[in-house]
Amino acid sequence: MKFVPVLEHDSGGVTTTDQENRVNLLGLDRKALELWFQGIGEKSYRAHQVLKWVHARGVVDFDAMTDLGKSLRSRLKEETCLDLPLVVQTQVSRDGTTKWLMALEDGNRIETVFIPEANRGTLCVSSQVGCALNCAFCATARQGFSRNLNTAEIIGQVWQAHRSLEQGNITNVVLMGMGEPLLNFAAVIPALELMMDDLAYGLAKRRVTVSTAGLVPAIDRLAQVSDASLAVSLHATTDALRNELVPINRKYPLDQLLDACHRFIHCDRQRGRKITWEYVMIDGVNDSVADARRLVKLLSHIPSKVNLIPFNSFEGVDFKRSPQESINRFQAVLQAAGYLTTVRRTRGDDIDAACGQLVGRVKAKSFPRHRTIPLKLVAG
Ligand code: SAH
Repeated sequence: MKFVPVLEHDSGGVTTTDQENRVNLLGLDRKALELWFQGIGEKSYRAHQVLKWVHARGVVDFDAMTDLGKSLRSRLKEETCLDLPLVVQTQVSRDGTTKWLMALEDGNRIETVFIPEANRGTLCVSSQVGCALNCAFCATARQGFSRNLNTAEIIGQVWQAHRSLEQGNITNVVLMGMGEPLLNFAAVIPALELMMDDLAYGLAKRRVTVSTAGLVPAIDRLAQVSDASLAVSLHATTDALRNELVPINRKYPLDQLLDACHRFIHCDRQRGRKITWEYVMIDGVNDSVADARRLVKLLSHIPSKVNLIPFNSFEGVDFKRSPQESINRFQAVLQAAGYLTTVRRTRGDDIDAACGQLVGRVKAKSFPRHRTIPLKLVAG
């Protein structure tokens, strides 16, 4: 792993430079860690000990890992590291939502949010610095895209949150922070494994969720390799509108996306589960009764639950949040058709921690060539 000192004055992100080429054990899941220990002639139970120390107990000081033996500990100190993203700011909302700003070693910054509820606590984790998908209603899109996070940077967010909250507070993790997780497949999969591993965070499989804007081939791959659950950001019921709101739809239109979701939810590992559909409610754009009826039809062959997200505004965007009556009407149509439909309460909006408001700080960014900022979308 490469360490680049950060040239800035406002602290954070700086790590040492003498550690080049050391493997960051934080980013290795159980299989990879077992292999690594086998590679240095150690038994694989060493991997299990390290997993427990690092993730379950939150210890990243090799000297404190007393059951490893002195010589192994010094070898680990020489050849490996346990480097975390650094928390540079913690904000706690009136409603208890917590947002951490974390600095990465190259100066980029990402955001992670914890949302406490009566009977669960959900951690919303970022998978990329910025995002390349350019969805019309999302603040992260306006930041442009810098790079993928590596596994250590993804699981490092869970590590930091886990340590700063009370034990057991995190019951669910959703990859719904900055970025498109399925465009960072190779790094995301081991992070999911660690979240679900009993020796690490031990979260139930149905409580670890990947959220995607609809990368069809990656949905199929996910079904093959992971037990995590799937959420899909739908937001529109016609290709014409979805092409504008979620431009990746031009590559993978609705019929292909729905087919992939059908295959996904009917694979063995997903038995008995549902796909969560996220649908941001934008006034006069996608919130009509006709939209709700079309949505009912689209989902008819897929075990589904629907999460309506009142649009969260940010500077420079022309969309407005649907009024409560439209949301209620829309929800009623879905409920009458038998779909479990929840309206996401807006959480943490006083600290810009709500859906689509995560921005971090994105360095060396690039923007998609054709930016579309649709101003005159008409609901169908
Ligand atoms: N790229 C993935 C992960 C990001 S999830 C995905 O698209 O699913 C972030 C969730 O918040 C998505 O459902 C996204 O559509 C939603 N969102 C983005 N901007 C929003 C906004 N301004 N108001 C409400 N929800 C928004």
